[in-house]
Amino acid sequence: PITAGEPIINHQICVCVRKRPLNKKEVNKKDHDVITVPNSESVLVHEPKTKVDLTKYLENQNFRFDYAFDENCSNELVYKFTAKPLVDCIFEKGMATCFAYGQTGSGKTHTMGGDFTAKGQQDCNKGIYALAARDVFRLLASKYKKQDLTVGSSFFEIYSGKVFDLLNKKSKLRVLEDGKQQVQVCGLKEEEVHNVDDVLKLIHHGNQCRTSGTTSANAHSSRSHAVFQIILRSKKTRKLWGKFSLIDLAGNERGADTSSADRQTRMEGAEINKSLLALKECIRALGRKGAHLPFRASKLTQVLRDSFIGGNSRTCMISTISPGMSCCEHTLNTLRYADRVK
Ligand code: ADP
Ligand code: MG
Repeated sequence: PITAGEPIINHQICVCVRKRPLNKKEVNKKDHDVITVPNSESVLVHEPKTKVDLTKYLENQNFRFDYAFDENCSNELVYKFTAKPLVDCIFEKGMATCFAYGQTGSGKTHTMGGDFTAKGQQDCNKGIYALAARDVFRLLASKYKKQDLTVGSSFFEIYSGKVFDLLNKKSKLRVLEDGKQQVQVCGLKEEEVHNVDDVLKLIHHGNQCRTSGTTSANAHSSRSHAVFQIILRSKKTRKLWGKFSLIDLAGNERGADTSSADRQTRMEGAEINKSLLALKECIRALGRKGAHLPFRASKLTQVLRDSFIGGNSRTCMISTISPGMSCCEHTLNTLRYADRVK
């Protein structure tokens, strides 16, 4: 596993895996750890005691990624190898995206936003949203001092194919495509931010807004995609300079809800399935000139369209996995998906 050092990979698309530790509940239930991260780029799925390799059940037995992080890796370390290299990209007029993909409970929100149960804004301090914001302000004050830029943030959620503004009382927003094929989320609030504290306030506010009015916070967040954006604009013209989208995706296991007895659940599952498939195709198309970009296939890919085109786009996917035998099937699904993104 990665323990220290500097990132060396500078691909347009970077795909990583992060394993979380077994939690208390799993230990109490005598669930077994079936995941081993033997080196900085591989993941092994094995039987709990015999350590027999289970990867023989997979089409592709060789799970290699750009980086593999084990349960001892901190958010700071994961950030350094994944999102940090993308911060520079937006100062160079680029569009960057970083996704957390995986099963509900595997660590997406822990990785991106800090703990979801956060009581105060300081608790949001430890996720990739906040770490990226920290470095944006650092770079703005040093390396890119001469560029006359302002920083803004937006935070929205895509639930069942609809967009809701998390910085504006969850108001429902329309998505329009103009004649020049530009996609606009109409009325999306973009708050100007001047320091990390401003950003933490917004994240905390948005996180609370995300779960308010829902019976179960976790059930809701598992069915929706949360998109947090850091936007650079030219101070004089207000023209877009660069944009970083950080996305906490819906739980990928929800895409299998298509046979549920409940109609609502079934429809949400179909929508999630559709968006995750479209996302995979759009990321793949990034690295292939002239490839078809099915961005209209889902709301998620539609609103991210400008990040999938243009010469200077970079993407990073952090696939989070649970270590337990009980999660093995979902873990394999996550690894397969991540494997095919590249
Ligand atoms: P998800 O957003 O994918 O549903 P969460 O981020 O909410 O999952 O994680 C589920 C639980 O596991 C949370 O209590 C979280 O704090 C914990 N957790 C997740 N990843 C890690 C990790 N790498 N180290 C320690 N605890 C973690
Ligand atoms: Mg979550």
